[in-house]
Amino acid sequence: MSQVYNFNAGPAILPRPVLEHIRHELLDYEGRGLSIMEMSHRSKEFMALVAEAEALIKELLAVPSGYRVLFLQGGASTQFAMVPMNFLPSERTADYLLTGVWSEKALEEAKTFGKTHIAGSTKEDQYRRVLRPEEVQLSDNPAYVHLTSNNTIYGTQWRALPTFGEHPLVADMSSDILSRPFDVAPYALIYAGAQKNLGPAGVTIVIIREEWIARVPKTVPSMLRYDIHAKNDSLYNTPPVFPIYATCLVLRWLQELGGAEEIALRNETKAATIYNVIDESDGFYRGHAERDSRSLMNITFRLPTEQLEKAFASQAKAQGFVGLEGHRSVGGLRASTYNAMPLEGCVALADFMREFQRTQG
Ligand SMILES: *Cc1c(COP(=O)(O)O)cnc(C)c1O
Repeated sequence: MSQVYNFNAGPAILPRPVLEHIRHELLDYEGRGLSIMEMSHRSKEFMALVAEAEALIKELLAVPSGYRVLFLQGGASTQFAMVPMNFLPSERTADYLLTGVWSEKALEEAKTFGKTHIAGSTKEDQYRRVLRPEEVQLSDNPAYVHLTSNNTIYGTQWRALPTFGEHPLVADMSSDILSRPFDVAPYALIYAGAQKNLGPAGVTIVIIREEWIARVPKTVPSMLRYDIHAKNDSLYNTPPVFPIYATCLVLRWLQELGGAEEIALRNETKAATIYNVIDESDGFYRGHAERDSRSLMNITFRLPTEQLEKAFASQAKAQGFVGLEGHRSVGGLRASTYNAMPLEGCVALADFMREFQRTQG
């Protein structure tokens, strides 16, 4: 098999040592003679994995006391609805910061449950940046303020996460969770589908304040209630056993390499390797994101013509670079450089970009 660099946006690259570990114990989990996929989710082995994954997330993100970590299904898309179902009472308003397609979708779902307010939007700027603090206009006493920390499609990221005093924050961190340290305390709830930066598709991580868990109204169906999942330690019904197991291995990998601080440094270096090529290309490569909103996870760029973009994508593919086509809604190219992408992959892509410009530019 030839060397491939996986720049897919999601499902995305997993750490090589984690895949090897999975292969090694796939047929025989810890000497039990079965794979982890074939065991009861209430076995002591699996329950230990769920507890370990919760503890590792708390440790890696320095989550303060008074929070739970839940492992749910339905992707971030289900969280778009579950958050307002549980935490947007009919008399209150929820505020949404629009910085891309995913925040628009979150808002649309909230509208079906209650009153919403767009507290700021960069849509008119083609979502090339996140909001400046002075552009945000909150409603009077919002139930929560919702933001998307990293905009996977446009390649923008809140490089400094905003806070709004005592107003509780809710964040979709699907594409940059655990890519850097940040202060969890202002967040009442954080959610993230695992398939970008944490593990395989099929599990969604929720970090939630216990005080909020206690507030869930009794009218919400059981499977969509945070309190029921919390009370049952994410084992209310059969959980996605394999994705939780693989996520736990990714968390161990992250802890061993030095945690959130260390991965943040690596992610800075990796992204800079590619942004430098864009910046030094005299306009041949044009980044979609404005500089101060550039994502360290998804690097979006265009070439002078669509024809050149096609040639770039096909030559890149021939040389083993996978997944560089931009999202179907914006076109262009996108290199996703999640935690599991090694620096050498970014260096190889940067070299390819320079060579492509030299020969085709
Ligand atoms: C991928 C993505 C989603 C959608 O996640 P699903 O797990 O497919 O529902 C939502 N938000 C962000 C920021 C994403 O990157």
